[in-house]
Amino acid sequence: MAGNPQGHQEGAAGAARPVGVLALQGDFREHVSVLRGLGAEVVTVRRPEEAAAISGLVIPGGESSVMDKLSRAFGVAEALKRRIAEGMPVYGTCAGLIMLADRIVDGIRGQESLGGLDVAVRRNAFGGQTESFEAELSVPVLGDPPMHAIFIRAPVVAELGPGATALATLDDGTVVAVEQGNLLGTSFHPEMTADYRFHQYFLQKVAGFDNGTARSSRP
Ligand code: GLN
Repeated sequence: MAGNPQGHQEGAAGAARPVGVLALQGDFREHVSVLRGLGAEVVTVRRPEEAAAISGLVIPGGESSVMDKLSRAFGVAEALKRRIAEGMPVYGTCAGLIMLADRIVDGIRGQESLGGLDVAVRRNAFGGQTESFEAELSVPVLGDPPMHAIFIRAPVVAELGPGATALATLDDGTVVAVEQGNLLGTSFHPEMTADYRFHQYFLQKVAGFDNGTARSSRP
């Protein structure tokens, strides 16, 4: 790319690094289109070498147990764990939030995560009652108006460790959005609405990471 107008760090090839969307499974296409709509250069990520060449990652919704198995089978899980440890910004929605949790409650046998967020996330937390629902959420870090949030077989943050901060809760206090340094997770699916403030918030972290001012999730 000629010039470097956004001040991005130059990669080995001399080009600013794009943001990635983990594309093993789930609604990754929607995230690609949201991020492109916001002006980002976006690539899909399935392989370890692709994980090494991005400046941030979105992990989509889908089925976390399948995403976990595929990410390990493709060898991309280890590469992403290294990038998370380096402080690369990652935004996980729904199954993506489960992938970012240090601890999974009600996972399938042997289910692992990439980790990074000091939280326990309960899969299918609304499963027995209503599998899907919508709610208006106040998200102070994003300001007004409240966010219309779509929950589909959604997880919740069952325990918030000292390293993590709640960004939004349901009326009963259940935590459904969380942040820790450069990591961001939501139980719901902003890519299915027209409100992309979480994606913008993520892209701000990416810009900070690429010019070296971002905070890692680990002190
Ligand atoms: N229940 C799914 C899981 O366990 C998540 C659902 C979603 O991503 N919409 O991964």
